[in-house]
Amino acid sequence: MFNDKTNDIDMDESLEKNLVIGLDLGGTNSVFGIVNARGKIKATTAIKTQVHQKVEDYVSASAEALAPIIEQVGGIGRIKAMGIGAPNGNYYKGTIEHAPNLPWKGVVPLAEMFSKALGIPVALTNDANAAAIGEMAYGVARGMKNFIVITLGTGVGSGIVVNGQLLYGCDGFAGELGHVTMVRGEKGRLCGCGRTGCLEAYCSATGVARTAKEWLQTTTTPSVLREMPMDDITSLDVSIAAEKGDKLAKDVYEFTGHMLGEACADFAAFSSPEAFIFFGGMTKAGDLLMEPVKRAYDEHVLPIFRGKAKFLVSSLSGSSAAVLGASAMGWEV
Ligand SMILES: [Zn+2]
Repeated sequence: MFNDKTNDIDMDESLEKNLVIGLDLGGTNSVFGIVNARGKIKATTAIKTQVHQKVEDYVSASAEALAPIIEQVGGIGRIKAMGIGAPNGNYYKGTIEHAPNLPWKGVVPLAEMFSKALGIPVALTNDANAAAIGEMAYGVARGMKNFIVITLGTGVGSGIVVNGQLLYGCDGFAGELGHVTMVRGEKGRLCGCGRTGCLEAYCSATGVARTAKEWLQTTTTPSVLREMPMDDITSLDVSIAAEKGDKLAKDVYEFTGHMLGEACADFAAFSSPEAFIFFGGMTKAGDLLMEPVKRAYDEHVLPIFRGKAKFLVSSLSGSSAAVLGASAMGWEV
């Protein structure tokens, strides 16, 4: 190899340990990718999460699924480390702790288990933090030192980067901006965390569907959504209806974006980010969501912060975004 002077040498082929493994661990699927330093996925595989009731079985099944794709990229000697993005992931301890949507209860030392199974270092954090690291390594946050990633999916998550470092807090769980209280008192909606009035209860994909269903029940505003069975309505249905000009659906996005913008105005007071980066399926709604976010932000933010933060949508969006985010942690271990 030393004498190989052919032009156009693919750096991936010529250097050792220049790949990382990313694992996007979700309640249903676990998706693995082997990624190079430029954020290109070289190989990918997946297993079902829920079928493995014992975490030991899950790790064995993962190692088995990974073996052929590790061979495909030139063997484990090429892999520097692995990064895992998982719900309730504790970065300091490499554990998943009391994750409601996973089959394994209590505190699971998953990073250590994978490290033993594969023989490489393994880092683990929650999915939103992984998204923030991914944006920093390969996405729109390259070169930024202060920004907040907000993930809009089934829940609302966040990854906060301050002075170039992800904020982990005293216990590894910092950055739960989805659970700041937006509506105080009895009127606050019940959130999945057991408290009421959280941002997540309104501005997640589930929250958008809940708002639409609530308004369909409490108003007589005509809407194409009334033609659907109430239980089937999703945030995507609401955005499709809104794009077609449906007033109720447009109002739902206006309400959601406004609340999200107000929340961002408060977050600016905390860490003065240069950008808010939105990540996840709901960003497909585009300006329908982003316009009211920006408007509400400008209305509510402290004057010293006005006009400073950019509002961006993740450039990693798509099915591989979470895997890329997780993999990016592998460069830092
Ligand atoms: Zn909550």
